[in-house]
Amino acid sequence: MDQVYDAIVVGAGIMGCSTAYNIIKTGQRALLLEQFPLPHTRGSSHGQSRIIRKAYGGEGDHYTKMMPEAFKKWAALEQETGTTLFKQTGILFCGSEGESFIKDVLKSLHKHSMPFTSLDSCALGKKYPMLRYPMDTVAVEDPSGGILFSDKSLAAFQKAFINHGGVLLDNEPMLDVYPGDIVTVKTNKGSYRGRNLVLTVGPWATKVLPSLGVHLPLKAVHVNVFYWKEKVRGTYSVGKCPVVIQEHGDRHDHFYGIPSFEYPGLYKFCCHHGPEIDPDRRDDVDTSWVLEKTKACVANNFPLLEPTPAIRETCIYTLAPDHNFILDRHPTMSNVIIGAGFSGHGFKLAPVVGKLLCELVMNKTPSYDMSPFRIDRFYKSSKL
Ligand SMILES: Cc1cc2nc3c(=O)[nH]c(=O)nc-3n(C[C@H](O)[C@H](O)[C@H](O)COP(=O)(O)OP(=O)(O)OC[C@H]3O[C@@H](n4cnc5c(N)ncnc54)[C@H](O)[C@@H]3O)c2cc1C
Repeated sequence: MDQVYDAIVVGAGIMGCSTAYNIIKTGQRALLLEQFPLPHTRGSSHGQSRIIRKAYGGEGDHYTKMMPEAFKKWAALEQETGTTLFKQTGILFCGSEGESFIKDVLKSLHKHSMPFTSLDSCALGKKYPMLRYPMDTVAVEDPSGGILFSDKSLAAFQKAFINHGGVLLDNEPMLDVYPGDIVTVKTNKGSYRGRNLVLTVGPWATKVLPSLGVHLPLKAVHVNVFYWKEKVRGTYSVGKCPVVIQEHGDRHDHFYGIPSFEYPGLYKFCCHHGPEIDPDRRDDVDTSWVLEKTKACVANNFPLLEPTPAIRETCIYTLAPDHNFILDRHPTMSNVIIGAGFSGHGFKLAPVVGKLLCELVMNKTPSYDMSPFRIDRFYKSSKL
């Protein structure tokens, strides 16, 4: 209890681990607390793969600007830990001609002068005969993107944090916070003091933040992760098939696919949507509609996959209504810093998020425009 940390980071998902790593690299003392024994599969960062891409459609330009640094930082972590964390596969974006999804992706690639290839449905069918899309499909291929090995990335940040002198305590939930110039965090095993507290509690932000007087319109959402057996082994493997991100019709028809490499012979294909849940009762919900939607999509677009999934895993998104992250100080406790609402697309940006949260801890001017991430946007927005 005598020790005063410069920062206590609560939550050892990818955001907490990256933040703690960034803090310890500056020479400050950092404690990272995790409620569950590590590794665990209860939050948002587990599993073997995440998509990494530079192009962001719609209002995501601020993320595209961060991506060059994110790629560099992932490569630096690979070097530091001697672990391969990234596999370049290219990303194929597919959508219906004239619809905003594909137009926004193209706009983003053009604006940032990123190389890409456009394919109409005939060219698409020739290049990727294992995919089948309607005639009005437009596809855009970004060769720079690919797969991040997420479990390995999480372990790499944790290992590097500990190697730099960080203290990581798992199986130790934060139960109470006593604010002040020195914040005290009480857990099931003891109390810890820190000049700053960083809350990166993933879907538990829906519970932890209200308990600290911060009421944000965040939703924890159950997400199914499906793996589909290839009819002919290797048809959808890395090298033959790119990562696919597709949206036809409305935003609720947003799906993504990752070539088979995690489980031999199994292609990962998932729907980006699911029902709202309590993160402590994650599986107590009906997701049959998600399975039906995804099965229909597989039947239509992936003719060489079996029609029902071989494996189903589960993960949680923490959605903000505008799908933007929350990276800000607590409205009244300035040494409590919040990283939340990563809305199903945060993993790739974790190295930059960690740097930004570290800059808030150190009272440094943030390296990027923080206005999209501020808490007060919710109080100004008419959407709410
Ligand atoms: C199926 C799926 C696919 C995804 N695909 C992509 C993708 O392709 N590309 C991409 O960029 N992103 C993707 N994402 C999003 C990305 O994985 C998340 O944005 C990211 O993992 C969020 O990390 P986090 O650290 O905020 O949350 P978590 O990983 O949930 O970490 C929060 C941690 O805090 C701990 N915690 C909570 N409360 C307490 C407490 N009181 N005391 C101590 N510890 C506590 C939790 O146990 C947990 O370990 C995907 C997410 C899912 C679920």
